[in-house]
Amino acid sequence: MRIFDPHIHMTSRTTDDYARMAAAGVRALVEPAFWLGQPRTNPGSFTDYFDSLIGWEPYRAAQFGIVHHATIALNPKEANDPRCRPVLDLLPRYLDKDRVVAVGEIGYDSMTPEEDDAFERQLALAVEHELPALVHTPHRDKAHGTRRTLEVVAASGIDPGRVAVDHLNEVTVGIVRESGCWMGFSIYPETKMSPPRMVEILREHGPERMLVNSAADWGHSDPLLTLETAQAMLAAGFTEDDVDRVLWRNPVEFYGQSGRLDLTPAGAGEETFAGSSIKRGGS
Ligand SMILES: [Zn+2]
Repeated sequence: MRIFDPHIHMTSRTTDDYARMAAAGVRALVEPAFWLGQPRTNPGSFTDYFDSLIGWEPYRAAQFGIVHHATIALNPKEANDPRCRPVLDLLPRYLDKDRVVAVGEIGYDSMTPEEDDAFERQLALAVEHELPALVHTPHRDKAHGTRRTLEVVAASGIDPGRVAVDHLNEVTVGIVRESGCWMGFSIYPETKMSPPRMVEILREHGPERMLVNSAADWGHSDPLLTLETAQAMLAAGFTEDDVDRVLWRNPVEFYGQSGRLDLTPAGAGEETFAGSSIKRGGS
């Protein structure tokens, strides 16, 4: 079984996690830029973080044979902080980097006017840079937040087939499916979506445009819940091909729209870490 985790925050995880993920079949992942818990106080704090997402973290992943790509954005929560908003002007240079496969995570946290503005501006950046967009939906008042998210996406003019709306559940999956956007599900240990619930959603809505991720970060989360979902699918009668589609081919198709997904097995190009860039030997 091969697994592509389309949303996981490895910066917050240990090398033990990388080893366990590699053993579980995780061969590729995408790490979206997000909120670190501790508020950032200036744009430089973001640029150091972005540099690590495209430099240090891919190098760390490669030690375990895992291919690492990133998405870059000002996250919804910090879009409210005037100390952080100037980072919006620094995004274009990151959105041109080789390993950046989408704009994200963008979207809503508390649905403030500041979040509206950052969301709209970053969807425009996605269009301008011909990148897909990864959109976070709020954990509170999810149905309302998801409806509003879809309105903003539609108004932006971005092709819905280039947008993944994430952290969905039984209540929000239907409207996102109708919109033509991709549907992301974050499988968590206790709260929100679980492997058995995910299997039911796949049974009802089919595998098309479905993305399953662990969204593992600094909170209570588990990078192996992608594997557990795959196993739950098999136990429920889904075929190996269904599992491969949801856990591998779907994320490859979605992020492949960036034109930058390079799934050459990590280590094959003798990657070495040099400052903030990966230098590839050979081709
Ligand atoms: Zn996240």
